[in-house]
Amino acid sequence: MNGLMQDWPLLCHRIIDHAAINHGNRKVISRSVEGPIVETTYAEIRARALKVAQRLTRDGVRPGDRVATLAWNTGRHLEAWYGILGCGAVYHTLNPRLYPEQIAYIANHAEDRVMMADISFVPLLESLAPKLPTVERTILLTDKANMPKTSLKNAVAYEEWIGEVDGDFRWAGLDENSAAGMCYTSGTTGNPKGVLYSHRSNVLHALGGNSAEMLGLNSHSVMMPVVPMFHANGWSIPFTAPMAGATLVMPGPKMDGASIFEMLDRYQVTATAGVPTVWFMLLAYLEESGKKLEHLERVIVGGSACPRAMTKTFQEKYGVEVSHAWGMTEMSPLGSTCAITPEVAHLSGDERLDLQEKQGRAPFLVEMKITDDAGKEIPWDGKTFGRLKVRGPAIARSYYKAEGGNVLDDEGYFDTNDVATIDEHGYMRITDRSKDVIKSGGEWISSIDLENLAVGHPSVAEAAVIGVPHPKWDERPLLVVVAKPGQQPDKAEILKFMEGKIAKWWMPDDIAFVKEIPHTATGKIQKTTLREQFRGYRLPTAD
Ligand code: ADP
Repeated sequence: MNGLMQDWPLLCHRIIDHAAINHGNRKVISRSVEGPIVETTYAEIRARALKVAQRLTRDGVRPGDRVATLAWNTGRHLEAWYGILGCGAVYHTLNPRLYPEQIAYIANHAEDRVMMADISFVPLLESLAPKLPTVERTILLTDKANMPKTSLKNAVAYEEWIGEVDGDFRWAGLDENSAAGMCYTSGTTGNPKGVLYSHRSNVLHALGGNSAEMLGLNSHSVMMPVVPMFHANGWSIPFTAPMAGATLVMPGPKMDGASIFEMLDRYQVTATAGVPTVWFMLLAYLEESGKKLEHLERVIVGGSACPRAMTKTFQEKYGVEVSHAWGMTEMSPLGSTCAITPEVAHLSGDERLDLQEKQGRAPFLVEMKITDDAGKEIPWDGKTFGRLKVRGPAIARSYYKAEGGNVLDDEGYFDTNDVATIDEHGYMRITDRSKDVIKSGGEWISSIDLENLAVGHPSVAEAAVIGVPHPKWDERPLLVVVAKPGQQPDKAEILKFMEGKIAKWWMPDDIAFVKEIPHTATGKIQKTTLREQFRGYRLPTAD
């Protein structure tokens, strides 16, 4: 027997409809690429997204066509997303921090027909133009007054372009399984691979991702996503914030400590989200300026492990709660947050910080398991490491154009390529990416644990650990350190600091000081480059 409920496909544009109807005056405040800070509302965003959808349709864009965006977080970028998916096309975020050849590869692989870009990317796009044969026109997210001179094909200023239609448009009626968005993984190994979100997966993910112990946004929240919309579906905030009716503060192109602070402070942001690299910059700015975070209640840290020292500083010095989160592009992307359940609510001080180093528990719609290399499940004892595998309705079942073949195991789980433990309360802890774990004498050493510990030393700004070949142990850890400005820590002092806090055989065999640690386009430590840089490095223990 079937239920007798209405057939109401889960379509992403219903989220902006809901926001416009029920939270229409709630603000979306953006630092524009042109410079000034501009304010709009969800009602306006929806009205203008309808124009985008209408205008794209008039330009001949059809359901399923890919429309690329190359843009920072702004209200216009948000309108573009809803307009694109609202006419049945697919928003495809391009990451401007990738190498130009990678951007061209990705745009060609996706066969993007239209490009919607910030004016600051005109020189990049002009240099790439000969390599982007599928792109028929470029819409620059600006007005006539700020429109640069450009040789780009059929280039037009966004405001003029949407000014030619009246917004009298009905969102496309679609099957909820239709594609809505696309994002490529940065491809630290092999070519980038396309992840294709559906309307249904985005809506379900936003519901699960905004549940109370995940993002937990509501109409009182003022959320600033520092994580760019081009990084892993913008951590779903373009959907969760309007769904919850939260005020949105968009940082635009400026991600330095002073600019982030200005937005947090001026607009009384209560929750923000981003990778550890940006929080390092914010904390350094706070330290040198003596400023305080008056309004911020919560910072969601993910993309890379949040070092314990960062959690401690945010919480103890600035009174801001840290939510450690984990996820990946293939998971839409939120996979866990470290929320406090009754079983662990009694923990305080160092024990609570120990817990917060974990990436946390899965929300509804995400199922996790850990297995050995043969695929056999291993226990949730908080100690045994294994491959972390996940399944759920907002987790990829395949990459675009079946790149990489079958990615699911017999039970439908996707291998995250992360190595993790899960404890008896369901708290998962990432110990490494499977290719970064250090294999010493048949046992595994977690590079993340060593890095977290090393950045706790007062003179260490950033730390990375890689495995270096060793004649006896196969691999041993080398700690690579960037010192804080004006500090010159020595090896012995750092090793002494680490001693006793980890197993003896986990201690790095050597420390190398560098000016800078390389990062990927999504702010992670680029271990491949680092391994290349230290190829042939001879550990003092190797003799
Ligand atoms: P990309 O690989 O394109 O940079 P993703 O955001 O999809 O972007 O990367 C996902 C990976 O990032 C995860 O598989 C995991 O290795 C790492 N990651 C994400 N969040 C955390 C976290 N809190 N702690 C440790 N690693 C994390």
